[in-house]
Amino acid sequence: MKKQKDFSVLISQQEIAEIITRLGTELTDFYQDIERELIVVGLLRGSFIFMADLIRAIDVPLVVDFMTVSSYGDGTVSSGDVKVVMDLDSSIEGRDVLLVEDIVDTGRTFSKVVRMLKNRNPNSVRICSFLSKPSAHKVPINIDFCGRVVGDEFVIGYGLDYAQKYRELPYVGIWEE
Ligand code: IMP
Repeated sequence: MKKQKDFSVLISQQEIAEIITRLGTELTDFYQDIERELIVVGLLRGSFIFMADLIRAIDVPLVVDFMTVSSYGDGTVSSGDVKVVMDLDSSIEGRDVLLVEDIVDTGRTFSKVVRMLKNRNPNSVRICSFLSKPSAHKVPINIDFCGRVVGDEFVIGYGLDYAQKYRELPYVGIWEE
């Protein structure tokens, strides 16, 4: 099979590394007095590469769990219909939860998942997203820890996909046909 084409680079590997270091410091400061392990919840599949880097940059005791929700099918437009495909393994009651997402687009996925998790009586739920597209937000959403703001373009790489492809790119590129 032919090597995949090159996309124009929006966020380089170097910039990604800087973002991770900054977020790691912010999160370490924020959670430094935590009493039990922080539960870091990754939304699959988009967050898995970001989450792997992020947890190694956070210097407080933590455990990880994952959830799969689907909202996009194979297209580039959010359907707004968020389904839980795989739920958490563990209880979050009384615990501090950091929800990790690859990108907040309309914000519907996050707001639905946050609402669902808050119903389980955690001590706190905070949000960390690698990217945010403020111009696309359709519901009010407060991103507590944000890696970087991007414009309206559809982006791929570093975990982000187009029709499940290009997640393995080490940089964030702008998708084009
Ligand atoms: P939201 O519910 O509209 O905020 O959608 C969030 C989800 O849509 C993300 O977790 C991604 O999986 C996907 N998504 C939104 N924008 C992009 C993009 O530019 N590239 C790749 N995936 C995206």
